[in-house]
Amino acid sequence: MRLRHITGSEEFVSDSPFVIQNPEALKGHFSEKLFSNENPHATQTILVKNKRPLCLEIGMGKGKFIFEMAKRNPERNFIGIERYDSVLFKAIKRREKEEEAGTVLKNLYYMSMDARFLSEVFSAGEVDTIYLNFSDPWPKKRQANRRLTSPVFLKLYEQVLSGDGHIEFKTDNRDLFDYSLESFQENGWDILAKSFDLHHDETLSEGNIMTEYEEKFSAKGNPICKCIAKKNK
Ligand code: SAM
Repeated sequence: MRLRHITGSEEFVSDSPFVIQNPEALKGHFSEKLFSNENPHATQTILVKNKRPLCLEIGMGKGKFIFEMAKRNPERNFIGIERYDSVLFKAIKRREKEEEAGTVLKNLYYMSMDARFLSEVFSAGEVDTIYLNFSDPWPKKRQANRRLTSPVFLKLYEQVLSGDGHIEFKTDNRDLFDYSLESFQENGWDILAKSFDLHHDETLSEGNIMTEYEEKFSAKGNPICKCIAKKNK
């Protein structure tokens, strides 16, 4: 991704109420301490609080996908993770505009963080779904460990995902997709579903929310690949 530094973006991000400023302090307690977890369907006889599923998008970019996901799925909690403040800045600005227009979401926060630190912030089994959308391909072999579907990252995801947890991965980069399918399988993940042309796949495309990159690359005619993977425990 070509990055343009935005002066003041670091200060803006560290002052934003949408950004989790001290995530380590919430480790293991995101549901109770950050999100309101009351079950809207609970009757007085059901006193047990319902933990809503926690979903992460890693490398969310300007945040269109996760914003739409949170809007359409109020019964789930969402955290968008992005390592560059100049990019996160844009996601927050977008969110502010949506709020001004009347869409106020209580189930979405952001984190300014590199995904390498995932297990310092989330406890074992705390996360239900991880979305990886159009992750940077890092095509050089010596940079393979930086790919978000490399074994290094799969180990981290395995640590924080719940027993039923899974990863949903989309990209238009066929080399990265092939690499990722192999990486999942070689590291004990089952591929529950896959498509090499998501937008023409009746089942997998149902309810698909396009990311900024997905809009850009599908407009150029690139087929979009998607897979859903679950650790075989
Ligand atoms: N997901 C968005 C989309 O589909 O439009 C953005 C895709 S962009 C190619 C990849 C994004 O992932 C960039 O914003 C980059 O800064 C972020 N990213 C890459 N590696 C990351 C990491 N290790 N931790 C957090 N964010 C990362």
